[in-house]
Order: sequence, then structure tokens, then C-alpha cells
Amino acid sequence: MDCLFCKIVSGEVPSTKVYENDKVLAFNDINPLAPVHILVIPKKHYTSIKDVPDSEMEIIAEIHKVINHIAKEKEIDKTGFRIINNCGEDANQVVKHIHYHVLGGKKLNP
Ligand code: AMP
Ligand code: ZN
Repeated sequence: MDCLFCKIVSGEVPSTKVYENDKVLAFNDINPLAPVHILVIPKKHYTSIKDVPDSEMEIIAEIHKVINHIAKEKEIDKTGFRIINNCGEDANQVVKHIHYHVLGGKKLNP
């Protein structure tokens, strides 16, 4: 499948990895909008949250566990951070492999 983030999972496209386990990968966004801007993705391809069946929804909990872990490691757990998931056209989802943006390290716009 011609998917940029699947290629990042396989290593075909390089990334700066922040965290990895058997199900989830986190890496720095190539165009950071904050001092901390990390993308957290499932290694399995889902186009968006609409593509995740109810029976596989535990992957979303796993992603949020990883986000908490990263927030502590990057020391933004006390100052706060924002989690963004763009889903579909109106949200301007560009990469069609579900991903959660984690933004922090500065006071973000309201
Ligand atoms: P979205 O608009 O939610 O689909 O966001 C896609 C994000 O992927 C953007 O913030 C891009 O900067 C980021 N991005 C695109 N290509 C890469 C790449 N090769 N490595 C890391 N991040 C990327
Ligand atoms: Zn993919």
C-alpha cells in the first residue's frame, strides 16, 4: 500500500523515533508547530478513526497510554499539551493513516 506512515513503520522512509512498542510508533513531526510536536500512530494501517472497528478500539487506548508516557518523558505532563486527531476532508487530514498530534512545550493558542 502506498502510505507514507506505513513506510515510516517499515523503515522505508526515515523518521526521528520517540517511542516504539509492538503496536504503536511515535516520531517527531517533520514540520513542528510547537517545541514538542510528535505524531503517534498505530503500526497497523487504519485510514482514520472511522476505519477502526469497535472490536479493535483498544488500539486507541494504547495510543493514549503511549501519549501519557511520552508526555512524562518530554516533561510536558505538568505544563500541559494538546492532542489533535484530524479525520477526513473538513478537518484537512492530509496523511490517510490515523495519527494523533501531541503538541506542547509552549502556551498554545486557545
Ligand atoms: P494531518 O494534517 O493531520 O494529516 O497531518 C499530517 C502531519 O504529518 C503534518 O503535521 C506533517 O508535517 C506531518 N508529516 C508529513 N510527512 C512527514 C514525515 N515524512 N515525517 C514526519 N511527519 C510528517
Ligand atoms: Zn498506512
